[in-house]
Amino acid sequence: MDYKALAQTLFPHIDKTPDYWEEKYPPRNLKEGARVTRFAPSPTGFLHFGNLFTCLVSYRTAKDTDGVFYVRVEDTDQKRKVDGAIEVMLKGLSVYGIVPDEGVIAEGTESGDYAPYYQSARKEIYQTYAKSLVEQGLAYPCFMTPEELDEIRAAQENESIKGIWGKWAKHRDLSFDEICARIERGEAWTLRLKSPGDMEKKCYFDDMIKGKIEMPENVQDVVILKSDGIPTYHFAHAIDDHLMRTTHVVRGDEWISSAPIHLQLFRVLGFKPPKYAHVAPIMKEENGGKRKLSKRKDPEAAVTYYAEEGFPSESVNEYMLTLANSNFEDWRRMNQTEPVEKFPFNLKKMSVSGALFDMVKLTDVSKNVICKMNAEKVFDLSYAWAKEYCPALAALYEKDTARATAILNIDRENKKPRKDIAKWSDIPDYISYMYDETFEPCYELTGNATPALAVKVLEQYIDCVNLDDDKDTWFSRMKELCPAVGCTPNVKEYKQNPDAFDGHVGDVSTIIRVALTGRTNTPDLYSITALLGAETVKTRLTNALTHYKEEF
Ligand code: GLU
Repeated sequence: MDYKALAQTLFPHIDKTPDYWEEKYPPRNLKEGARVTRFAPSPTGFLHFGNLFTCLVSYRTAKDTDGVFYVRVEDTDQKRKVDGAIEVMLKGLSVYGIVPDEGVIAEGTESGDYAPYYQSARKEIYQTYAKSLVEQGLAYPCFMTPEELDEIRAAQENESIKGIWGKWAKHRDLSFDEICARIERGEAWTLRLKSPGDMEKKCYFDDMIKGKIEMPENVQDVVILKSDGIPTYHFAHAIDDHLMRTTHVVRGDEWISSAPIHLQLFRVLGFKPPKYAHVAPIMKEENGGKRKLSKRKDPEAAVTYYAEEGFPSESVNEYMLTLANSNFEDWRRMNQTEPVEKFPFNLKKMSVSGALFDMVKLTDVSKNVICKMNAEKVFDLSYAWAKEYCPALAALYEKDTARATAILNIDRENKKPRKDIAKWSDIPDYISYMYDETFEPCYELTGNATPALAVKVLEQYIDCVNLDDDKDTWFSRMKELCPAVGCTPNVKEYKQNPDAFDGHVGDVSTIIRVALTGRTNTPDLYSITALLGAETVKTRLTNALTHYKEEF
């Protein structure tokens, strides 16, 4: 067979050679050990939490080594393409601090020496290499129709190796004349790899996450160009990751079963294969078992969920690191104020079987992140969130932004800040009693606080509360009114002799707290009282008194 003539017949329009592209996209000039990684989304517009996670792993792999992280858009499947999808995905990433160094940096905008980064614009490159494979007798056109392929599929039901190989690879040895005749008749063809694989042999590789892997060699004559001349994922991956000089392919582990095909392609093409890091999917516990986090079943599978709920990106980032490396939490405990970038992330410490998504854990991580923020930051971030997702909260804030910040500052910026807020959508409830518009009275009491005691306490307190008091004076007033209502200011004393009293100062403060906030548990009551203002304090105490009088 004259392979050169065959290549020319199949690709008459290709006048370049692989050397041309090799020269155009030379190896990168990076320092020793710098890793080049990428995120290669198909433009579906949906960013799955698992994609974000894999992307973070890819990003950290590059950034921690002063390497390059780029975005390549895998848009060869035009049917799956959604307009505006790239913008949505890039925005989703940038929220979490993942900004590509090169590649597709905005919808339709590319930057970097290895462009184009849209696969749809790289047809000539793929076909150059395809032509070269044909010239070397390593790939061939296959004219099998969809019906013929269906028949083979049916016939192979009991075969362990499926696809086009061995006796099924009927068009491997078509003569040049026959190929020309079929092309002349207008028959559609795909280009298949003439797999050099040996069924008896194994393919070995060392996955950065999964460790040593051994699989049978690929023997299938996989399609490398579809009938429209567009490459399959397998072929595009090999060409692109080689020419873009990717050192580490970080991708979902659903691709691990295709790795023998990919390694074979790299070999046939004469490329040095990249290192692979196959990331296991994020799992969810269900009925005692585990399953993949599902776009269909789990709202938290969509990255937009976190923004909508108002989880700060810092929290999600920290949470993802707990999923990525189990030693992250120990590191965080030892390095409370360090930025996460300082964490020595390690691919080798990733879970092999898939980390478990746990909302309780995320909530916990986020509370810890938020409690360390100062009030201005909490205000700014939650205000930005509110403007988009909770106009009612934004409107409350806008009444008096300084007061809103002061409310958020209660029990903050101290050694043991409270951890009431896990996400911005917790705030409307958390601060509801600070605004008359949202305050809902609730007069339920706990401990020794009874309606009868409440009447006595409130009657006394209404007369003595003074918003100009400093904190100590404020508290002494509560203590001072204790004897008059049959309580002791001393909790210890009460515990020693409970029958001698109707309650203690804690019960007194509960009554006042419930009257002012409708709750038995709140942050610092002194600060709350001060921020409510004299008029509101008076009204709420009076209303509570009226209520308990009626109840009593
Ligand atoms: N476009 C592929 C996907 O979205 C990329 C896989 C890879 O990273 O190589 O699954």
